[in-house]
Amino acid sequence: MTILLVGGGHAHLKCLLEIRKKPLPNQNILLISPNRYQYYSGMFSGYTEGLYSIDEIRIDLKTMSEKAGVTFIEDKVTEISVTDKTLETKAGTKISFSVVSFDTGSLIEGPSSFKDYLVQIKPNYLFAKKIMEYREVEFPIVVGGGASGVEIALAITAWRKKNGLPTNVSLITSSNLLPSSSTKASKRVTYIAKQKGLSIIEDDSVAKMNECQMITQNGRCLSHSQVLWLTGPSPSGIFKKSSLPCDQTGFLLTERTLQAKGLPFIFGAGDCITLEAFPDLPKNGVYAVRQAELLWRNITSYINGEMYFTFTPQRHYLSLLSTGNKEALLQYGSFTAHNKLAWKLKNKIDTDYIKKFKK
Ligand SMILES: Cc1cc2nc3c(=O)[nH]c(=O)nc-3n(C[C@H](O)[C@H](O)[C@H](O)COP(=O)(O)OP(=O)(O)OC[C@H]3O[C@@H](n4cnc5c(N)ncnc54)[C@H](O)[C@@H]3O)c2cc1C
Repeated sequence: MTILLVGGGHAHLKCLLEIRKKPLPNQNILLISPNRYQYYSGMFSGYTEGLYSIDEIRIDLKTMSEKAGVTFIEDKVTEISVTDKTLETKAGTKISFSVVSFDTGSLIEGPSSFKDYLVQIKPNYLFAKKIMEYREVEFPIVVGGGASGVEIALAITAWRKKNGLPTNVSLITSSNLLPSSSTKASKRVTYIAKQKGLSIIEDDSVAKMNECQMITQNGRCLSHSQVLWLTGPSPSGIFKKSSLPCDQTGFLLTERTLQAKGLPFIFGAGDCITLEAFPDLPKNGVYAVRQAELLWRNITSYINGEMYFTFTPQRHYLSLLSTGNKEALLQYGSFTAHNKLAWKLKNKIDTDYIKKFKK
């Protein structure tokens, strides 16, 4: 039997650990990812600010696979044939599978007319190099007021301050900051961001852009040196192209067992799936990690004909948003706190998490 793990996201990292701990006899397991390294987005803000080195934020998928007896293939899946149970890759290889699992994350799609002016940081392996260049440009502009936009804009601001560059970072958002959080957290982060020198343009969006200027819907004219577009996640397109069950936007539609709807030999986890039972579940690392706990157990249940486990998202989770200068905003339900202790906690959680995959 051939088990294919496509993408080196959170859930497949966990699968590799499980396989190493308890190898499956007589199985041929392959991991396919377009880059040897998996970059951990939880540490992107710290990396942007210069707090972590590149090796501290990435995991070597090839080494991890070898330790688990899994074959690592550096390539990208481009299409899936359900009837033949085969995958096609960018390098032109056709690979047969008995079971396949997708943990391929998501993309960020800015409007196609702005494409030439946007910094391409996705897939995640592009982030480290691109952000190093971007944090020192003349006019940095971040679009997107969600957690990743706010964190990265504040990290660039902190890095520029430390390195004697003007702290002229602008953040444009079509709503208020952190629209999915409580009003209290949203107001608090806006106050903190302003204190730290971030220029925030709320309830506005980009209407037009050329190579050095943009005009917003509300008529503001801003100079830019490319734009860091950090709005919500978009699907990669491989599932729709392959006629797999998808939600309206093109994410793989799955059951609570993480199996594609109606296709029990296809699994998925993390950003690349939408759970039919929880269509509005945010796509973030927290849920990707939670699904990781379940994925390998259910793949082995499929192989052994055993009972499946089902995924139930927790209602509240701890959110730690780095605000720069080793401070973070902690949110849990309606509770918020902003201080250095919250950053220390974030640093501990993130460094402990990544350490598990480097042993
Ligand atoms: C700048 C930024 C900061 C963020 N910070 C946080 C944070 O602090 N906390 C948080 O919870 N979330 C954060 N997020 C969101 C978080 O990155 C995602 O929700 C999370 O990474 C999803 O994990 P995943 O396991 O689904 O996939 P990913 O971690 O994105 O991994 C997907 C993997 O699949 C590979 N892949 C992609 N396409 C293919 C293909 N066709 N074939 C083979 N392999 C493929 C990729 O190269 C990659 O290795 C941030 C996002 C961004 C953009």
